[in-house]
Amino acid sequence: MRIMSESIFITATDTGVGKTIISCAIGLALKKRGIDVGVMKPFQCSGDDTDFLIKALGIKDEKSLVNPYYAKEPLAPYIAFKRAKITINLDKVFSAYKELKKRHEFLLVEGAGGLLVPIKENYLVCDLARDLDIAIAIVARAGLGTLNHALLTQKYAFSYGLKVKGIIINSYKGKTLAEKTNPGILGEFLDVPLLGIAPYIQNVKSFSNLRKLSRLIEKNMDLDALLKREKTPTRQLIRQDKKFIWHPFTQMKDWLGSEPLIIEEAKGCYLKDTKGNWYLDGVSSLWVNVHGHRKKEIDLAVIGQLNKVAHSSLLGLGNIPSIELAEELMMIAPKGLSRVFYSDDGSTAVEVALKMAYQYWHLLGIAKAKFIHLENSYHGDTIGAVSAGGIDLFHKAYKNLLFESFAVDSPYCYRCPKDKSYPLCSFECLDKLKEILKEHSDSIAALIVEPLVQAAAGMLVWPDGIYKEMARLCREYNVLLIADEVAVGMGRTGSMFASDTEKVTPDILCLAKGLTAGYLPLAVTLTTEKIFDAFLGEYKEIKTFFHGHTYTGNPLASSAAVANLRLFKKEKTLEKLQPKIQFLKEELEKFKALECVGDVRQKGFMAGIELVKDKKTREPYTRREGIGIKVCQKVREYGVILRPLGSVIVLMPPLAITKDELKHLLDATYKAICQSLG
Ligand code: PMP
Repeated sequence: MRIMSESIFITATDTGVGKTIISCAIGLALKKRGIDVGVMKPFQCSGDDTDFLIKALGIKDEKSLVNPYYAKEPLAPYIAFKRAKITINLDKVFSAYKELKKRHEFLLVEGAGGLLVPIKENYLVCDLARDLDIAIAIVARAGLGTLNHALLTQKYAFSYGLKVKGIIINSYKGKTLAEKTNPGILGEFLDVPLLGIAPYIQNVKSFSNLRKLSRLIEKNMDLDALLKREKTPTRQLIRQDKKFIWHPFTQMKDWLGSEPLIIEEAKGCYLKDTKGNWYLDGVSSLWVNVHGHRKKEIDLAVIGQLNKVAHSSLLGLGNIPSIELAEELMMIAPKGLSRVFYSDDGSTAVEVALKMAYQYWHLLGIAKAKFIHLENSYHGDTIGAVSAGGIDLFHKAYKNLLFESFAVDSPYCYRCPKDKSYPLCSFECLDKLKEILKEHSDSIAALIVEPLVQAAAGMLVWPDGIYKEMARLCREYNVLLIADEVAVGMGRTGSMFASDTEKVTPDILCLAKGLTAGYLPLAVTLTTEKIFDAFLGEYKEIKTFFHGHTYTGNPLASSAAVANLRLFKKEKTLEKLQPKIQFLKEELEKFKALECVGDVRQKGFMAGIELVKDKKTREPYTRREGIGIKVCQKVREYGVILRPLGSVIVLMPPLAITKDELKHLLDATYKAICQSLG
């Protein structure tokens, strides 16, 4: 796990406000407290700020790390470096920052002008603060104009998702009326602390005067607020969690005796707990995350929407993001799907699908009211979805509550229900489906499947072509096909939808999880014009689809989903994913050789490693043995969070994970398996 040291990004409301002096004075004050302070000025345009910082703070680091980019002319970096024909490579800045952070307890990073000063194409100072993931302190000029500039900067910082430690007023003489009144008024209007007021000192660049300023800063400024690591009392949080929360899919007796992690924030593919430990999010926060956490474009889309409306209902009204999203979805959905019905999560998307299929036949005057589902299937936790589920552990307890649904074999090749072996078989696992269709198709509304990978069953990857054959059988017997793409959709299998891979257009397709890139709960049930049309009629005919959740088509969630889909295009997410899928495949090979590994299954960016007691006989572990849990507990020691499915270790990282991070995920998992079963 990675532990971050502290740093602060000193920005200003404008150029020439004196942030270098303030940085120096703060640095000296911190040093006096015995803190090892480092400094960085990533971009300097003219002047000698870097030399001054280095000298004043007695910095030993190479100047190239402290100031990776220097241009001669006193202009905004974007213009200055362009004119100097210097190309800015941000990676150089990021790696210098990383290096300096490693070397020092506390790092002061000085910006360039204000937050909206351009550094390079499409890149401003606020982007730098965001990418470095540092809280900012804003230096404001004393006197007239401060209120406006300070409040504007603070407001923009918030709306850009930056953390603001506070405001420092510089060069305060206390002579004008504005200077006298501004600090009090600022305190009233600011949402962050006024950290301190630095007095005006003549010739402050002389080191003795600077030391004087530093002493005054130490006396008058809330340095503790700058240093504070936003420490949330973990003990207390755990106590309150255990006192009030009932966790899902969790034996609470175990939970109450455990030492849970409390997640506080995240960045990219990492989650941070309240103790400051960073963990690789190896299962994408329950299979939802796509582009990483705190992705700028999605953050801004949600913030932008918040400034318009957080929620209005789709019952009797429309809203802009849900319209935009429907349009975007229709551009990429399997051909033939033309209508979008909104709900909130995977289970509700499935619930909608089942009711829609049922009512469709009813409206046509055809008595088809039953469903077929696959063994091992999982479609959610609401009663309809559970009725179409095939995992005893989750579903048996509710048996008497459920409607009837035919169960047919699932293509679980490692434990083939027909004792056959793919590719030599002829899909004998479909025999039962064919039988039921032959005998009962008159009464069957739909077959519901999770195409290509039955995820919750333990990442059961289907043999190629079998989904297409299921779709053909549905057509032959006039039974609707519902594709539950809640887990497999949104790029997970390597194409946008699993149905794309075998060129299947289901009658109904459910999406949730990755739809908002892991930001907010939102689901859609897509269907054809044929099904939609069956529900059209006069009000009194009562052909209405009687379904609709309160937050259906929520504008915030829809705006996150729109941003998600646009990112797929802009960042070529699926194209970039292909080599990583191949890398994952190659790396998984070495797991196959382990004595405790029975099967390794992968489709796209979904992988399952099935642990067995005996490789030869394929004897499985029982759930009670908790082997998957043991491995996932162990892997935390290597800074990775995983969640197993019984004895199957699941790897489902965000699609945006880098190759290095993926390698770390695989190596950590390998070690955890070996050490837990060795
Ligand atoms: N269908 C599938 C295939 C799923 O994997 C899940 C959740 N794991 C669901 C439906 C239910 O989704 P939710 O938990 O969002 O209700």
